[in-house]
Amino acid sequence: MAVKDIVKYPDPRLKVTSDSVYQIDKYILQTIKDLSDTLDAYPHTVGIAAPQIGITLRIIIIDASKKRNCRDNHGKLVLINPEIYSYDGLLQFREGCLSIPDFTANINRAKEVSVCYYDTAFKRQFVKASDFEAVLLQHEIDHLNGVLFLDRVISKRTDLFRRKKYI
Ligand SMILES: [Zn+2]
Repeated sequence: MAVKDIVKYPDPRLKVTSDSVYQIDKYILQTIKDLSDTLDAYPHTVGIAAPQIGITLRIIIIDASKKRNCRDNHGKLVLINPEIYSYDGLLQFREGCLSIPDFTANINRAKEVSVCYYDTAFKRQFVKASDFEAVLLQHEIDHLNGVLFLDRVISKRTDLFRRKKYI
């Protein structure tokens, strides 16, 4: 069990474009384990990206099943080198982030996304997600490109909110 410290805004590591993973080795497996343990340590947190534990590699873990009333989801998924290849629809969602503990914001996202990725056996996989899970994938994949939800706020005056309590 290795729960890692969360890299917090404005740490420059959150603004880096992460590197692709080319093979599964011990280091990658350890990174996945650490990410998973860190995600599990936060009962209300549904996703994490490797840069959030200071490792700028293209690995994310999502688990939409941790969100109450989220019926349409694929459970806990490890996605290596995820790429969104189709977007559909639009919705607005109030997002938060472990790396930005003081704020939440209303962000516009696609309502459905299709994502290709590699699994932990380095097999190519595809997932089609909608609503909450689609937002989650877009948020975590943004981290791999050095993009935070703060970068996507249209109006800081009307769409950005200070959190009353910490996650
Ligand atoms: Zn985040």
